[in-house]
Amino acid sequence: MPTDPYAWIEQSLTTIHRADWYRSVQTIHGRPGATVILAGQEVINFASNDYLGLAGDERLISSGVAATEEFGTGSTGSRLLSGHRELHRKLEEAIASLKQTEDALIFSSGYLANLGAIAALMGKRDLILSDQYNHSSLKNGAILSGAAVIEYPHNDITAVKTHLMQERQNYRRCLIVTDSVFSMDGDLCPLPALLNLAEEFSCMLLVDEAHATGVMGETGAGCVEYFGYTGKPLIQIGTLSKALGSLGGYVAGSATLIDFLRNRAPTWIYTTGLSPADTAAALAAIEIVQQEPQRRIQLWRNVDYLKQLMQEYVIDLKLLPSESPILCFQLPSAAEALKAGKYLRDAGIFAPAIRPPTVPTSRIRISVMATHQAAHIEKLVAVLGDRTTVI
Ligand SMILES: *Cc1c(COP(=O)(O)O)cnc(C)c1O
Repeated sequence: MPTDPYAWIEQSLTTIHRADWYRSVQTIHGRPGATVILAGQEVINFASNDYLGLAGDERLISSGVAATEEFGTGSTGSRLLSGHRELHRKLEEAIASLKQTEDALIFSSGYLANLGAIAALMGKRDLILSDQYNHSSLKNGAILSGAAVIEYPHNDITAVKTHLMQERQNYRRCLIVTDSVFSMDGDLCPLPALLNLAEEFSCMLLVDEAHATGVMGETGAGCVEYFGYTGKPLIQIGTLSKALGSLGGYVAGSATLIDFLRNRAPTWIYTTGLSPADTAAALAAIEIVQQEPQRRIQLWRNVDYLKQLMQEYVIDLKLLPSESPILCFQLPSAAEALKAGKYLRDAGIFAPAIRPPTVPTSRIRISVMATHQAAHIEKLVAVLGDRTTVI
C-alpha cells in the first residue's frame, strides 16, 4: 500500500498544537479603532499597528471611495504594462517628500518591498549581514537573493564589525539589513554605529521603517529622521499598512536606486499595481501625518502615560526595553503567554500573546495608539495590576 503523501501535514499540526504554537484567526467586526468588537465583545484595542488611528479615519475612507468611483476597483495589470496610474506616481512623490529622498517606489505590501529590493540588489557573490530579530520579510529576502547571509546577535555592533573585518574582502557587495523599530520588541537599531560601519567597510545599509514611519522623528519620517540622518545614502523600506492605515509597501532612496528597482525587482515588475482605493487612502494618510503633528504628539503622550502608570502599579512584570509605542512583557512559556492573553481578553483588553517561532521567547505585546483615551490606558494598568495567579 502506498502511504498517503499528505498524511504528514496532520502530524505536523499535532506537533504545533502540543507545543502551544498553534494559531488561528480572530474576527473583528466593524471599523478599526481604539476599541473594537472582537467576537461580539467590545474590547480596548492594544493589538493593532494603526498607531495614529488612521485606518478608520473618515478622510482616508472617503479618499478610498472617491478613487474607487473614479478609477475602479483594480489596477488591472502590472505597473509596467496597463497598471500604472497618476495616483501611484503622486503617492511615490508624497513618500519621497516625507522621507526627503530623491524618489520612492510603491509595492503591494511591505513584505514584497523587502523581498524585491533585497533580491534585486544582492546575488551569489555578495554578503548580507542581518540582525537576528529582523522581520521575516528581510530574512526571506536575503534567502531569495542567493547571497551569503550572516545573522548577527540582536543589535550587537561588535559582532557586525568582527564579521566585516573577517569576511568583507571575500565578497563583491555587502548589505547590512535591520528593522529600525523592532516589531516584536519595540527597541531601536543602533543606526549611527551601523552607518559608521557601512561607510568604513563600503556596505549598503537597508533599514526597515515599518513601525517607525508616521511615528518616529519630528515630521514622522521615521528613525532615520529621529537619528538626524535624513539625506544619508540609505535604502529605506516601509509599509503603508501600519501608521498610514492603508495597504502596500515602499522603498525610498536615490533616484538611481529606484530606477534600478523598477527594472530589476521581481515583486514589483511581475505583480499588479496597487489598487486605486489603497493608493488614495495612503496618500490621504501622508497628508495627515505631515499636517497634523498633534496626532504623533498625542501618541507619545499616551506611551509616556502608560510607562509611568506601569512603573507605579505593575512593578512585578518585566517590560522589555522599548523606545517606541510597542511595549512587551516577557512570560516564561508559550502556555503562560496564552493564559495571560486570555485573562486580558476576558477583562476586555485585546493584547495578543506572541510566541515562537515569531519570537525566541513568549510575550504579551501591547501597541499604543494616538486615539487611546486616558481611561483605556488606566483600565489596562488596572487589569494588569489586579491579577492574582495569572501572568
Ligand atoms: C509589518 C512589517 C513588514 C511587512 O509589511 P506589510 O505591509 O504588512 O507586508 C515588514 N517589515 C516589518 C519590520 C514589519 O513589521
